[in-house]
Amino acid sequence: MSVLAGTREHVALSRFTTIGTGGPARFLAEPASLEELVELLGWAREAGHAVETVGLGSNLLVHDDGVGALVLRLGGSLAAVRVEGETLVAGGGARNAVCLHRARDAGLGGFEFASAIPGTVGGAVRMNAGAYGRDFAAVLVQATVVSADGFRTAGPEALGLSYRHSSLRPGDVVAEVRLALERRDPAEISTQVTALLGQRKATQPTNRRTFGSVFKNPPGENGAGRLIEQCGLKGYQIGGALISPRHANFIENAGGASSADALALMAEARRRVYAQHGVELEHEVRFLGPLELPPL
Ligand SMILES: Cc1cc2nc3c(=O)[nH]c(=O)nc-3n(C[C@H](O)[C@H](O)[C@H](O)COP(=O)(O)OP(=O)(O)OC[C@H]3O[C@@H](n4cnc5c(N)ncnc54)[C@H](O)[C@@H]3O)c2cc1C
Repeated sequence: MSVLAGTREHVALSRFTTIGTGGPARFLAEPASLEELVELLGWAREAGHAVETVGLGSNLLVHDDGVGALVLRLGGSLAAVRVEGETLVAGGGARNAVCLHRARDAGLGGFEFASAIPGTVGGAVRMNAGAYGRDFAAVLVQATVVSADGFRTAGPEALGLSYRHSSLRPGDVVAEVRLALERRDPAEISTQVTALLGQRKATQPTNRRTFGSVFKNPPGENGAGRLIEQCGLKGYQIGGALISPRHANFIENAGGASSADALALMAEARRRVYAQHGVELEHEVRFLGPLELPPL
């Protein structure tokens, strides 16, 4: 384990976000075990540093000037995956894709919905990530959450999981999750995953750098993408950030985008949707660093 004091050169978080923007972490560490994680959290508390955790950065917008915190990326045993009967046990840093493969190889289904969600299970619990009518709350038995205050295990209810929401706070690190799956033929799992990924490719900019859904879908018939599209914003660009011509609830890095470009585009989309539809969009993407949308 090493703690790197931040400089833009060696720890720019743009390397760890799927949109490819973001400045440096003040400190960056990659704990490889529970012991290292606990040691780091203790160190940060002693030194008075805030703690943030980054998974695959697939729902993250990081300030261009960086983050004044200790940023953690979980590795080693904190990203390992094993199967115990019909339970999948994964470190918070394990990727959904790895979990899916391990589950399929063990003949366990119920996790296919996560095939197109390109994150870690820790990030997915934090976001209660979901797709195709299923989310992590449906499969999570319990998560082990570590913070400077110690350990706790909690199920979906205690974690407050609801639509793209949890009650986890910065400094709460999802170190391990236990997911309840069910016996299923691996060939059937593969067929379903192929179909789901095909659907994705047809409707979303899967071959572009994005951070997934920009805004949560508001209540009502029209999703955020449809509302933004109805404002004529598909293909609208600020700097290097572009509202996806394929799906308006995605922002693409069209080349050289900054987080400020993406934020300005979000503000404009939100302003136009409010003016035209009277709907206040709430951002789904998580902000790291002092980023804020202007009031409507
Ligand atoms: C192409 C594309 C498609 C997507 N499709 C979907 C979809 O269908 N459904 C969906 O729900 N999302 C989707 N997303 C968004 C994203 O993949 C999910 O929100 C995912 O769960 C984020 O996981 P992550 O590991 O990348 O977390 P990050 O983006 O790194 O972080 C997200 C939040 O989780 C916190 N976090 C990360 N790891 C931990 C941890 N171990 N402990 C505590 N907190 C942590 C971070 O601090 C941050 O607040 C998509 C994204 C992309 C790029």
